[in-house]
Amino acid sequence: MNDLSERDQAVIWHPFTQMQTAPLPIPIVRGSGSLLYGADGREYLDMISSWWVNIHGHAHPHIAKRVAEQLQILEHVIFAGFTHQPAVELAERLLAILPPNQSKVFYSDNGSTAVEVALKMAFQYWHNLGMPRKKIVAFENAYHGDTFGAMAVGGRSAFTAPFVPFLFDVDYLPVPVPGQEAVVLQQAEALFTNEVAAFIAEPLVQGAGGMVMYEPGVLDKLIKLARNKGALIIADEVMTGFGRTGRLFASNHLDEKPDLMCLSKGLTGGTMALGITACAAHIYDAFLSTDKHKTLFHGHSFTANPLACTAALASMDLLLLPETQANIQRITQSHTDFAGRLATYASVDNIRQHGTLLAFDLNVGEQTSYFNNIRDTAYNFLLDRGVLMRPLGNVLYLMPPYCTTNEQLAFAHTQIEALLTTI
Ligand SMILES: *Cc1c(COP(=O)(O)O)cnc(C)c1O
Repeated sequence: MNDLSERDQAVIWHPFTQMQTAPLPIPIVRGSGSLLYGADGREYLDMISSWWVNIHGHAHPHIAKRVAEQLQILEHVIFAGFTHQPAVELAERLLAILPPNQSKVFYSDNGSTAVEVALKMAFQYWHNLGMPRKKIVAFENAYHGDTFGAMAVGGRSAFTAPFVPFLFDVDYLPVPVPGQEAVVLQQAEALFTNEVAAFIAEPLVQGAGGMVMYEPGVLDKLIKLARNKGALIIADEVMTGFGRTGRLFASNHLDEKPDLMCLSKGLTGGTMALGITACAAHIYDAFLSTDKHKTLFHGHSFTANPLACTAALASMDLLLLPETQANIQRITQSHTDFAGRLATYASVDNIRQHGTLLAFDLNVGEQTSYFNNIRDTAYNFLLDRGVLMRPLGNVLYLMPPYCTTNEQLAFAHTQIEALLTTI
């Protein structure tokens, strides 16, 4: 049974993994709904939607069928000078559900590239207008991906330390968490000048930065301040998109709509890699010219891959079903109820929720050495009991696929409460 793990270790370098100390990876042979099946016969309840991508459960038959059909028709075609049905249909259907100011869709491969494209669009927008602007404002602690531009606009941390000399400068605003709104707005008044090309934010929830949550009202105010100085607004909805915060997009909670939106993760239901940067008409228009220098010179070999676009279309079919929307409300309510129970534990702090995303801090008080190990302790405790969660330091969160049943949620809650009584 460890055969695959050992063969893996001989040849593979895993993401975000210290290969010297990491345990052997667990071979998964099959997935169905919210369950993953190990080669050793064990089951894992996937409470993190497999790195936040899987919104409808694993190996969903509708997505599988659509992709299998498309595979027989057209697997790929160069997307410069050519187009195809899945790409056009996906853009049409996506624009119909995105905020109404969004008018064009640019395809790439993943969340990081969606952010890279948004940044290039923003900088070149100003360049094309003959009024170059160089500054980006971002939130402290932000995560926008692992490529260089995406890293540059993210917070500086241990993850970016070796690369800091190579990252362009960004002006940071603290995250306007509840209670901090006034302070952040005051700092923003000074930061937003007419040199700012764009303000980039993960609306309502900073994911990888620790599931830090804030309210739409203050983001609306920040966007207004940025807009007053002409800055473009980039909403990185790579994690928050496709129902996660209870609405189809976190931007739907806002009055001020973004100029650019980055989408990936849930876009294909977690089936294939695909990224999208959507933009408002005035961005697109700034690239229209008889002068070829104003072209957006960006593209990837697999831009708008027909299989990935088909997976996204099939995922959208499912997302828009009344049943799925009801599931999103059901999970939201389940999280709220569980939050009430969590509040009774002394070891739990800072409980927060937006829609189907529930997060809390494990409060380990003075036990600093234990604190350092709390992430691994919690991860292993839950995994041993068949629940896949991936704490961010001492932050535990539930981000289940929308098909997760009440029984499965209750099972996860029981295991979490067992963990809480041991710390
Ligand atoms: C995951 C993530 C990204 C990067 O997406 P990848 O597909 O992993 O490159 C960017 N922004 C946010 C908010 C994310 O959560």
